[in-house]
Amino acid sequence: MTNIEQDRWSRVKGRLRSSVGEDVYSSWFARMDLESVQPESVHLSVPTRFLKSWIQTHYSDRVLSCWQAEMPQVHRVDLTVRTAMRCAAPAKDAPAHAEPRRDDGRPAPELRATAIAPVSATHEALGGSPLDPRLTFGSFVIGRSNTLAHAAARQVAEGRRGDPVMFNPLYIHSGVGLGKTHLLQAVTWAGNSGTERKVLYLTAEKFMYGFVAALKSQTALAFKEALRGIDVLVIDDLQFLQGKTTQAEFCHTLNALIDAGRQVVIAADRPPSDLESLDERVRSRLAGGLVVEMASLGEDLRLGILKSRVTAARAHHASFDVPLPVLEYLARTITHNGRDLEGAINRLLAHSKLNAQPVTLEMAEREIRDLVRPQEPKRIKIEDIQRVVARQYNVSRSDLLSSRRTANVVRPRQVAMYLAKTLTLRSLPEIGRRFGGRDHTTVLHAVRKIEGLVAKDTALSDEVELLKRQLQE
Ligand code: ADP
Ligand code: MG
Repeated sequence: MTNIEQDRWSRVKGRLRSSVGEDVYSSWFARMDLESVQPESVHLSVPTRFLKSWIQTHYSDRVLSCWQAEMPQVHRVDLTVRTAMRCAAPAKDAPAHAEPRRDDGRPAPELRATAIAPVSATHEALGGSPLDPRLTFGSFVIGRSNTLAHAAARQVAEGRRGDPVMFNPLYIHSGVGLGKTHLLQAVTWAGNSGTERKVLYLTAEKFMYGFVAALKSQTALAFKEALRGIDVLVIDDLQFLQGKTTQAEFCHTLNALIDAGRQVVIAADRPPSDLESLDERVRSRLAGGLVVEMASLGEDLRLGILKSRVTAARAHHASFDVPLPVLEYLARTITHNGRDLEGAINRLLAHSKLNAQPVTLEMAEREIRDLVRPQEPKRIKIEDIQRVVARQYNVSRSDLLSSRRTANVVRPRQVAMYLAKTLTLRSLPEIGRRFGGRDHTTVLHAVRKIEGLVAKDTALSDEVELLKRQLQE
C-alpha cells in the first residue's frame, strides 16, 4: 500500500472516530484494516463475522461517507472477514472458582464432581459470578408459588444446543429471598454439566463491572466475542443494571443473543415494566419472552425447604436432628423468605453442636427470636391499585387509563395515581406511563389534589383509607 493510501486511510479513520465518538469507535472500528483501494471502491476487513455484520447493518453509510469525504469517486465499500486473524480460542480447563467448602471450612468432597464439571474458561474470563454448589434443581423445593418458574427453568436447562428456543428471554421476578438466585444457578449447573452447552451466570453487577473493566483495558471486543460463544446467558438481579453505556451494551448483547437463537434467562425483583432505569425498547424486549412471577413462600413450601436444609446439614453432621414440631414451628413463624429459613437452621445447628444438646422447641424459640419480624409489607402493584379503585368506584380499568375527563372517571383516576405514589416506590414518570401514557406533571397534580382533599374531606379520607387497607391485606 502506498503512503498516500495510508494517509488517506488514517484520515478516514479520524473522520469516523469523530463522527461516532471514541467509545463506539474503539468498540467496533479499532480493528478494521484497509486491504486495498480501487478507483471506485475500497476493500476493508475486520477480524470477526459478527463485527462485519454489525458494521454493515449499523455503520455502512457512515463508513462510505467518510471515504467519500476523502475520495469523492468511491461509491462502494467492501467489508470482509480476515480469516487468518481469528481470535485464539480461550484456554480450556482453567479453574473457575474455589472449591466448595462446608460449614466447618473443610472442602466438601462429595460436591467436587458437580463443582468441577461446569468450569469453563469463558465463565472465568468473563468474570462469571461464583456459583454455590448447593443451589441445584435437586435442592429446590417445588410449591404452588414457584411451579411455573421451576418448570420454565427446567425446560431451559434441558434444552440442547441448536434446539429451538421456546421462550426468550425467560424472565423471573419476585421479592427478595424467594428462590430466584437458586433457580438461576440451578439452570447454570444443569446446563454446564453436559459439555455441549456453555451457560454463563452473571450478576448484573458483574456484567456492569466486567464490561466497564473490559472497556478500560481495551478488550471490549474480546468480551463481546466471548459472550457470543455463550449458549445460555443468565443474568441475576437485573434491577441493579445502571449507567448509559452499560445499558446500551446490555441491549446489544440481549438483541444479539436472542436474534442468534441463544437463550437468555433473567431474574429481577420487579417485572420488566417496572425497571424504570431501562429504556422502553429494552423493557419491551424483556417482556417479549416468558415473564413469571414467584409469589411468597407458602407454609408448606417453607416446611419443605426447612426439611431439605436439615437433610443437607445431616450429610455433614450426622447427629443433627430437628424434630418435626420444631420444623413446623419454624415454618409457621418465619414467614419472610428463604434466607431466614436457612439462617434458622444454621443457628440451630451451631447451637446444638456448640452445646452438644438436642434441638428442642424451647431452644428454637430462643434462637430464632430475632428472625420473627412482623410481616413484611406486601409488594403492591399498580395494576392491583387500578383494579381495586376501579371496582370501588364502579368504573372499568380502561376508563382509568383512558383520556376521558368526565367527573366520575377523573376522581377515581386521581385517587389511583395518588395511591400508586404513596403505596409503591414508582416514580412519577413511571406512574404516568402506567396510567395510559400520561405526563409526570399530570400525576403530580393528581397527587397534590388528593393530598389536599384528604386533609379536608373526611368522607374521601375514609375512602382512601379503606382502599389502602384493601390493598395492604
Ligand atoms: P432470591 O434470589 O430470590 O433473593 P435466593 O434464591 O437467594 O432468593 O433464596 C434465598 C434462600 O432461600 C436460599 O438459601 C435458597 O436456597 C432458599 N430457597 C428459596 N426458595 C427455595 C426453594 N423453592 N427450595 C429450596 N430452597 C429455596
Ligand atoms: Mg438473588
